[in-house]
Amino acid sequence: MFKGYDILDFVRTYCEESICQEYLANAKWGNGFRCVKCGNTSWSRVAETYNRKCNKCKHIESPTSGTLFHKVKSPLTKAFLFVFLVSTSKKGISSYELARKLSLRQTTCYFFSRKIMKAMNIKEPKLLDGKVDVDEFFVGGPETGKPGRSKGKKKQVVMVIQMKKKGIVRCYANQIPSAGTKQLKPFFQKYISKEALIRTDKWRGYRPLKYLFPWLKQEVSVPKNNFRLFHRQVMMLKAWLRGIHHQAKHLQPYLDEFTWRFNNRNNPNLFDILISSMMKEKATPIKLLT
Ligand SMILES: [Zn+2]
Repeated sequence: MFKGYDILDFVRTYCEESICQEYLANAKWGNGFRCVKCGNTSWSRVAETYNRKCNKCKHIESPTSGTLFHKVKSPLTKAFLFVFLVSTSKKGISSYELARKLSLRQTTCYFFSRKIMKAMNIKEPKLLDGKVDVDEFFVGGPETGKPGRSKGKKKQVVMVIQMKKKGIVRCYANQIPSAGTKQLKPFFQKYISKEALIRTDKWRGYRPLKYLFPWLKQEVSVPKNNFRLFHRQVMMLKAWLRGIHHQAKHLQPYLDEFTWRFNNRNNPNLFDILISSMMKEKATPIKLLT
């Protein structure tokens, strides 16, 4: 376990390959070993490594194989520092900056960052409950002559926030091809509790969802009057997208990163959380990330 944001502490802790290997082995098999080839659960150590050999079929597995650390070219100490910088920087860190700080190629940093973002996609989110606002909006430059919900080249996003007193507790956001009920329904089902006190604007796409979410209320959105926390969050997201990533060719991974950072903003175990998600993610061929 590593707690906190102290870079010197971190570098001292993970200063050798074997320490990183041991950490990954614990993260991968902490709940028990299961052979990927035959499913057997008994194993033996392979001398001088943290690899494990299946006692039945003799298959040898390394701590990194089948995870997002698979075939990472740089030393693990560097990969660990990479994950530490990404997880603990408050607003995220560009592949150019990582390349400069870690003496790596920018493309290497770009693809490894993309892998990390994959782990920031929450597969089983905690359902939002209590007071919840939902709305959709566009990301991308304004297009003249295409007001309102008309799309143009902009990308449409639906976002949900859970509120408490004067602040936002958690948020989730997904890119959607359009704001029809068909697209909104799975988003609601994935992220919002049926008991939540949901508020949306008067958009007709939300209306049929009242059958599934009985506490859903619709009210006219008046600028600077209601949905204020929601609009503040949208402004934060847009400013963040402009500042860090400049362009949003692949929007969803950036939405995942933004919401992951926001939802974990007060958590001191960011490095551990991110590494354990990375260990659960399957290795991704680079061609699927471009
Ligand atoms: Zn086996």
